[in-house]
Amino acid sequence: MSILKIARLGHPVLRQVAAPVEPAELGGPELSHLIADMLETVDAADGAGLAAPQVHVSKRVVVLQLSRTRGMEVWINPVLTPLTDERLASTEGCLSVPGMLGVVARPAAVRVEALRPDGSPLLLELEGFAAVVAQHECDHLDGVIYVDKVEPRSLGFAEELRRAARQRQAADDEAPGEDEIEDEDDDLDDEDEAGA
Ligand code: ZN
Repeated sequence: MSILKIARLGHPVLRQVAAPVEPAELGGPELSHLIADMLETVDAADGAGLAAPQVHVSKRVVVLQLSRTRGMEVWINPVLTPLTDERLASTEGCLSVPGMLGVVARPAAVRVEALRPDGSPLLLELEGFAAVVAQHECDHLDGVIYVDKVEPRSLGFAEELRRAARQRQAADDEAPGEDEIEDEDDDLDDEDEAGA
């Protein structure tokens, strides 16, 4: 196994529509090798997910972690269908856009149809953070990157956004009794910041 180099925004491989994995490839050594390397790479990068185009392989394969308590999943040829018109706005980052974060609003629930690496079918319905990660990763397979979908004016360097959030927090702490204004963008928690 090896840690693979991650393509950064601007590399054309990130903009290609990835090819489906052919049935004959399922369970084969080449695909198994790719999956093992992707799992090692996403672990080393401390990401919530990784799509094969991000490691310069234009195939419809993603690895992703749907929650803190679940291990990494591997999906082959995933197809996502939104299950609601409701949108969930959350702060996203991407291993291919290091150091930056932005707010993206996505369907709050999706159905996932995919294959496991052994070729067996997988059907899932996801909501919340898991639905966001799934959509972020599967977008990569169509050459779409979260920066294409960020809410205007929300994109920034993670360091600066955290500094600003800390300063707002400190200002709030000094002014007790003032009306609390909830701003979800202030809550840059670890889960939201995971690069994917
Ligand atoms: Zn990404």
